[in-house]
Amino acid sequence: MATVRELWEKCNIRGVVARFDEPMSLHTSFRVGGPADVFVEPADIDAARAALDAALAARIPTYLVGGGSNLVVADRGIRGLVVSLASLSSIDAIRSGPDVTVIRAGAGVPMDALADWCAARSFSGVERFAGLPGTVGGAVYMNARCYDLSVSDVLASVVVLSPRAKGCTLEEVPFDASGWAYKRSPFQRADVEPLRVTESTPIVAAADFRVRPGDRAGIEAEMARLRSDREAKGHFRFPSAGSMFKNDRAFGKPTGQIVDELGLRGLSIGGAAVAPWHGNIVINTGTATAWDIRELVRRVKDAVRERTGFDLECEVVFAGDWEGENT
Ligand SMILES: Cc1cc2nc3c(=O)[nH]c(=O)nc-3n(C[C@H](O)[C@H](O)[C@H](O)COP(=O)(O)OP(=O)(O)OC[C@H]3O[C@@H](n4cnc5c(N)ncnc54)[C@H](O)[C@@H]3O)c2cc1C
Repeated sequence: MATVRELWEKCNIRGVVARFDEPMSLHTSFRVGGPADVFVEPADIDAARAALDAALAARIPTYLVGGGSNLVVADRGIRGLVVSLASLSSIDAIRSGPDVTVIRAGAGVPMDALADWCAARSFSGVERFAGLPGTVGGAVYMNARCYDLSVSDVLASVVVLSPRAKGCTLEEVPFDASGWAYKRSPFQRADVEPLRVTESTPIVAAADFRVRPGDRAGIEAEMARLRSDREAKGHFRFPSAGSMFKNDRAFGKPTGQIVDELGLRGLSIGGAAVAPWHGNIVINTGTATAWDIRELVRRVKDAVRERTGFDLECEVVFAGDWEGENT
């Protein structure tokens, strides 16, 4: 049977440079993850469409990553083609009114850069996403939430790339609140393997955000305050993916507090540890494997279930080829 690399080499897509056996640890904020058979970063939307069309036609299992800031990729890596839309990095004001302006940002734009772009033009609305790791595509998919503001609170529409047998389609879909909730978006699909691109998984090509005129100095001061707050909370002290577990109102308190109260801070397996300063952050102390992280998460979930009856739900996405790893 042909390997993924052989199948991809037959596709020969212009504008798409492939990297083979690309370590996914280079593309995740946790700094773990084995090789992807093939990794591509199409230069623009046409190249992205061509790559996806070719991969689906050749039946190459295809996976999508953003900034990798909410991912644990297995130590064995990813069997298939991994597509990054990092090059979709334009930002434009597409509709301007006296009150609301709509800003379109490509899927690959870092949310932090979007906040800076808007602040520099005195637009208020997305400043609470300053300091959020990851891209527009990942933030829309996750419905990222920062300081009580969710992406869905400021979304006007999404430019959706839909893989189809006859070729990808691209359309602007106006925001519709159904399907969106705390850390949930209609892009998340329980019936599809994490990261997997299929003919039924819509992809975020760009997103439109509603912003309003504001005071540049005030917006920038707020962004600086939030970035410092993240620093002070130890977000960037060690590689991690931010909060490991979702909060849940039914628990009556933040998930991190539950983990703290059970004395699980500092619990470690191999190089993975529950951050000694925060119960809801798992860190890579330097030598963690993906397996260490997954096993530690399992231990914490088991302990919380046994001692409180609560079932913690992971916010972080576990992806890739886990087969054969001591599960
Ligand atoms: C230090 C730190 C702090 C953090 N703080 C926060 C926080 O305050 N709030 C918060 O919500 N999160 C936080 N996170 C988690 C993370 O930053 C967010 O979930 C972020 O939105 C993920 O974006 P990404 O581009 O890195 O996505 P990735 O991690 O690359 O991918 C996440 C998922 O999105 C999918 N995806 C990526 N791009 C697209 C696309 N274009 N179309 C469709 N699906 C796509 C992927 O397939 C995957 O399933 C933090 C992480 C870190 C490391």
